[in-house]
Amino acid sequence: MPIYEYRCEECRKLSSFLLLRASEIIEPRCNHCGSTNVRRVISRVTVLKSEEKRLETLLDPAKLSDFDENDPRSVERLVRRMGRELGDELGEDFEKSMEEALGDESSPSEDA
Ligand SMILES: [Zn+2]
Repeated sequence: MPIYEYRCEECRKLSSFLLLRASEIIEPRCNHCGSTNVRRVISRVTVLKSEEKRLETLLDPAKLSDFDENDPRSVERLVRRMGRELGDELGEDFEKSMEEALGDESSPSEDA
């Protein structure tokens, strides 16, 4: 059964939804504050959290003191920096193919 996880944009908490059928349509809503302002996250919550942390660090205003959005070179520098940190857009498919490539079926679950 697929489990979908959504992060609330209001209170930043995670809500999990268990779907009985993959075709089932849900209206995701925060279980904590009831907000519908939620964003789908991939199941590797621990990985995602650490990457978000890194992204937050990268987007720390203190580190963007030299960033000028009107300067293409400055933008490019930031994008390159972010690309180095995060890799390119690593989607679910990438993770899946990585897992298949590694052939590790027995990795312990990171779910708390
Ligand atoms: Zn919430």
